[in-house]
Amino acid sequence: MNTEAASAQNATEPTILHHFIGGEEVASESERYGDVYNPALGRVQARVPLATTAEVNAAVESAARAFPAWAKTPPIKRARCMFRLKALLEEHADELGAIITSEHGKVCEDAAGEVIRGLEVVEFACGAPQLLKGEFSENIGNGIDGFAMRQPLGVVAGITPFNFPAMVPLWMAPMAIVCGNTFVLKPSERDPSSSMLLAKLFKEAGVPDGVFNVVHGDKEAVDALLDHPEVQALSFVGSTPIAQYIYERGTANGKRVQALGGAKNHMLVMPDAPIDRTVDALMGAGYGSAGERCMAISVAVAVGDEMADRLVAELKPRVEKLKIGPGQHKGQDMGPLVTREHRDKVKSYVDLGVEEGAELVVDGRGYEQPESPSGFWLGGCLFDRVTADMRIYKEEIFGPVLCVVRVDSFDDAVNLINAHEFGNGVSIFTRDGDAARTFVERIQVGMVGVNIPIPVPVAYHSFGGWKNSLFGDHHIYGPEGIRFYTRLKTVTQRWHTGVREGASFVMPTLGQ
Ligand code: NAD
Repeated sequence: MNTEAASAQNATEPTILHHFIGGEEVASESERYGDVYNPALGRVQARVPLATTAEVNAAVESAARAFPAWAKTPPIKRARCMFRLKALLEEHADELGAIITSEHGKVCEDAAGEVIRGLEVVEFACGAPQLLKGEFSENIGNGIDGFAMRQPLGVVAGITPFNFPAMVPLWMAPMAIVCGNTFVLKPSERDPSSSMLLAKLFKEAGVPDGVFNVVHGDKEAVDALLDHPEVQALSFVGSTPIAQYIYERGTANGKRVQALGGAKNHMLVMPDAPIDRTVDALMGAGYGSAGERCMAISVAVAVGDEMADRLVAELKPRVEKLKIGPGQHKGQDMGPLVTREHRDKVKSYVDLGVEEGAELVVDGRGYEQPESPSGFWLGGCLFDRVTADMRIYKEEIFGPVLCVVRVDSFDDAVNLINAHEFGNGVSIFTRDGDAARTFVERIQVGMVGVNIPIPVPVAYHSFGGWKNSLFGDHHIYGPEGIRFYTRLKTVTQRWHTGVREGASFVMPTLGQ
């Protein structure tokens, strides 16, 4: 019996998901629900409520009520919750990973990696008392001291994408909460269950009721967050058109917004790049998570035809032999795509590439999965001779499709990458230190790898792209996260000792 038949035998009714408001699960009164699929089986396994504006308002109000006491809680006590959350996440890592795989489809080892990267942000948040320390200047004038401190904003919201259903919420919520804010998460409606486990773990870690809330939904819920006057700031991660919309509507409503958008990440392959390591890197970064990563490499820019020919010759058999299967089976290279709709969209980009005249070296469109035929499968695809005017080059495909672009020189490669609308991640593979250093200096991209294909910054740095990959002034998590989720207050203070100076009508010059 194949996986699908076995699981059909045990099929149960889809689970109905709830919101998490004020420290408890709250059944939705919405009349609108969305389907949550197991993409390896192609079957609905849960139904997610699409919140009404009133439900979002209830979550925001619960967060607003919890804010004053939480903001007053000493940072060390807030940090202790993060220490407990870290331990709980470690304890529940397998459970969280299994939920991610069952709703997103990514392979179990990759889901485990996602949990670890999220956990690392919690570890960083444990250092909040040190990070929130202010500045003090004694005696800036006669008997006058000056000090500066960072205070929380109030209720903040996070709106997250499907492709990292645990990691991206963990980029936001621990940072916001440890800074003294209260949080409303609106996770992706395509894989919302991991956020419910996170909610339970926040509660178990001692985070008071109302400090972390989850409302499920779609545009209606997002718009309610964008318009609610109590929401002080919004963190968004998702596609560029929605990121721009969130930024514009949120800032028009006077909110602080960081909105991270889509990507088209290039790997510049120099003629001296070690071919075996470069091909390994392209395989993992191009096809890992079925290409559904905002830091996936989707374009290899080969300098010189000789390198391009070698690269394509080495990639072809590897792409053809990708191990594709249900993500819960260990040892797969990639699983299915998240939904049928998304799989069909990616497939249509492959059709388009052929129409546009690119050379389809590996065609994964006909791929069939014997174990689980109804899943949302697509085989790995490889295009050669892609050019900058093609839509498959210009647009984000977000699937297992790697494009090879041929250029004549390093300068041509840098100019090509710099002309692209996105600037999330980029990488250079070379043995030439001069070329690498010049690349780092000149490239117009927020996160750069040198012989590293996926340069996602560690938790104590910050993550963010340039150009249409990020709208707003702050990158996410790390030191930038602390700055985003707090505002600066500077105090100048004197006590009534010393000589009375009388009224002064000139600009104070304290140090004179
Ligand atoms: P998406 O933009 O469709 O959805 C993201 C969130 O926005 C979801 O919570 C969704 O419910 C909400 N949303 C969708 N349509 C909306 C609308 N019209 N109005 C208001 N809210 C709306 O993105 P996705 O498909 O879930 O995720 C994939 C995208 O996210 C890719 O473009 C990928 O590059 C990007 N991404 C970027 C980063 C980054 O750090 N830059 C990280 C992960 C994913």
